[in-house]
Amino acid sequence: MSVVDKNLFVDTLNIERPAFISSIEFVDSQQVVINVNFEEGCVVCPICGAKTPNAGYVKKRWRHLDCMQFKSVIVADMPVAKCSRCGELICEAPWARQGSPYTAEFELMLVGMKTSALLSSIANIVDEPESLLDEVLQSYEITDESFYRRSVAR
Ligand SMILES: [Zn+2]
Repeated sequence: MSVVDKNLFVDTLNIERPAFISSIEFVDSQQVVINVNFEEGCVVCPICGAKTPNAGYVKKRWRHLDCMQFKSVIVADMPVAKCSRCGELICEAPWARQGSPYTAEFELMLVGMKTSALLSSIANIVDEPESLLDEVLQSYEITDESFYRRSVAR
């Protein structure tokens, strides 16, 4: 596949400035990798919200909802905030809960599946480790219901 419409992915992923899709790659005819970068400049501290200088970038990866038959992955060079009060911290990705290996939409799908299927079945369907799914779903149930309500409302 040589031509990919980036706008399709921009719209479905809600990628907004200062983030942008730098490239889209198809790997082994099974996976689409959406590479995201951030514009140069100030970043926002994930703890206090202050605008700070950028102290560099850290590469992060999130599993997203499949796109047709392709397993979809977002890979982003996340800016590191250099906050005078909080220290150096990796900025939050708007598409995922802090620390999760999955996008918010992928986690929502898992939560929906959990109501009607065994975790082992879900792990087989989405091709992800059962232990990681269990950890993610437990953290959702305990701490982040409001995050998911916001994600659904988008
Ligand atoms: Zn701060």
